[in-house]
Amino acid sequence: MLVNSKEMLLNAKKNHYAVPHFNINNLEWAKFILQKCNELNIPVILGVSEGAANYMGGFNTISGMVKGLINDLNINIPVCLHVDHGTCKETCIKAIDAGFTSVMIDASRHELEENIKITKEVVDYAHQRGVTVEAEVGHIGGSEDNITSTSTNATLNDCLILYNNTGIDSLAPALGSVHGFYKGEPNLDFETMKIINDNIDIPLVLHGGSGIPEDKIRKAIECGISKINVNTELQVVWSKAVREKLQADSSVYDPRKIIGSGEASLKNKVEEIVKLFGTRN
Ligand SMILES: [Zn+2]
Repeated sequence: MLVNSKEMLLNAKKNHYAVPHFNINNLEWAKFILQKCNELNIPVILGVSEGAANYMGGFNTISGMVKGLINDLNINIPVCLHVDHGTCKETCIKAIDAGFTSVMIDASRHELEENIKITKEVVDYAHQRGVTVEAEVGHIGGSEDNITSTSTNATLNDCLILYNNTGIDSLAPALGSVHGFYKGEPNLDFETMKIINDNIDIPLVLHGGSGIPEDKIRKAIECGISKINVNTELQVVWSKAVREKLQADSSVYDPRKIIGSGEASLKNKVEEIVKLFGTRN
């Protein structure tokens, strides 16, 4: 069942666990994640970056593919189809019109006032259509879709101003996590995370979930994180398995055998991450 993120995230916030957001790259990624989460009986968010959307053909293609998989594979869990880091209003509108149930508008590269203006326009369009909206305050740096940028941490005041002026459904405050690989140990600002959580009643989102040590993931959930975005970690285990397959079998040429050889590793990693993110009630 394709749903927006509202209920699943509020339930996670109330019961102190995190809903996994897994980025998808192709049909197999979507299929393996849906099958594993259905087996574990947990709601899941499938994240699609603009780069991934372009790669797969566009938002209509992805929406059709995910709906088809839910139907054909008898997926019974709540599934949210979400735009990850929509850089402008037009992208979010295109995705919503194509059937996405949730969008992130990331106007965090602009000054707060402009971020609010763009985010509010997306919220107005999305809420009329039952679609949920996530926004970013501060800036989460690192490397995403081959674009590298530097982080700026969020403050409670900026989070409150953005929230009060836009009516967003969830918030990603930049608090030290980065996209892609970490250089050294991630330095997360748990104190500010907790303060923001205590003062804002919408669920908080942690980006850059790959490479954060388990104890810090648990601490982040304790401090109020209700959704954690994971991308790199699945890519790493999948590509390792495929590389081993190609090295072990030099005569393999069927793309299904090559791409599919990463299935077990990807599903095992999904299960590990879901367990780390806590128990559902
Ligand atoms: Zn992100």
